[in-house]
Amino acid sequence: MNILLLGKNGQVGWELQRSLAVLGQVTALDFDSSDYCGDFSNPEGVRDTVRALRPDVIVNAAAHTAVDKAESEPELARLLNATTPGVLAEEAGRLGAWLVHYSTDYVFDGSSSNPWRETDAPAPLSVYGATKLEGERAIQQSGCRHLILRTSWVYGARGGNFAKTMLRLAQERERLTVIDDQWGVPTGADLLADITAHVIRHLQQHPQDGGLYHCAASGETTWHAYAEYVLAYARQTQPALHLKATEIAPVPTSAFPTPAQRPHNSRLDTTKLQTAFGLVLPPWQQGVARMLTEIL
Ligand code: NDP
Repeated sequence: MNILLLGKNGQVGWELQRSLAVLGQVTALDFDSSDYCGDFSNPEGVRDTVRALRPDVIVNAAAHTAVDKAESEPELARLLNATTPGVLAEEAGRLGAWLVHYSTDYVFDGSSSNPWRETDAPAPLSVYGATKLEGERAIQQSGCRHLILRTSWVYGARGGNFAKTMLRLAQERERLTVIDDQWGVPTGADLLADITAHVIRHLQQHPQDGGLYHCAASGETTWHAYAEYVLAYARQTQPALHLKATEIAPVPTSAFPTPAQRPHNSRLDTTKLQTAFGLVLPPWQQGVARMLTEIL
């Protein structure tokens, strides 16, 4: 199997380099790759790449993920999150290749009190969410064979993440304030990458199972409870770390005004994914504990 991986150095892209390796020949590109164009601000360059490589599977982990920045650069966000994924879909359709793509809980407005299902109506609150939704629709409307995994609160051991920020702040300050009215599920980039590889294999035998799926670790939390978990784990496993913070104060979203609005309820119902692919999604704490063990 020939696989084209785009966005290879992002959180998910980095883990995909590992998980896809067992499936076949992987050509992995980033926006500044020199052999082939992997720059999503150049859709025609990316089109040429697909035409030259003729992959069996395209896995797209590239995106404009800076949620607040996207509010002031909507054209770039649209290019990266919708236009170029649409070009990938056109070319995948031409080749009969699979396109695997990631989308987000931010396609929803967060107003429901239940975990969101694939059949629920999206209503994005931000440019990021809106452009990601446009990307999904471009792929679906192209008619190519595709798999779209909507996920949430992604973290990886590599690069910056929420847990690392909390650990740093807890070493600097005695009191932290963390939002407690946004609900979601932290999901490891490694988990997403492993599921992607599993599902690509499954789709070779069961192509009728392509489509849109919600994919996140199990359970639910708030940013506040997530921070508490991170600091408690660090205290228990690394007492020498000297965390100064004695209080993590819960605050509403309004305490941290940001350019982009975020949904209060980001929880995704993953029943469809677990049933279709015979998967068990582990509790979010399992992946976070593993990541903390790696970084502490
Ligand atoms: P990252 O931001 O870690 O990765 C995105 C990658 O795209 C980065 O390597 C980034 O490079 C790259 N990129 C930026 N501009 C371009 C460009 N012009 N051309 C090509 N690549 C470019 O995101 P994640 O790995 O976390 O996200 C993977 C997928 O999951 C995305 O589709 C995202 O929308 C989705 N998702 C992510 C969530 C999250 O919490 N992170 C939540 C829900 C969904 P650089 O870093 O150098 O800018």
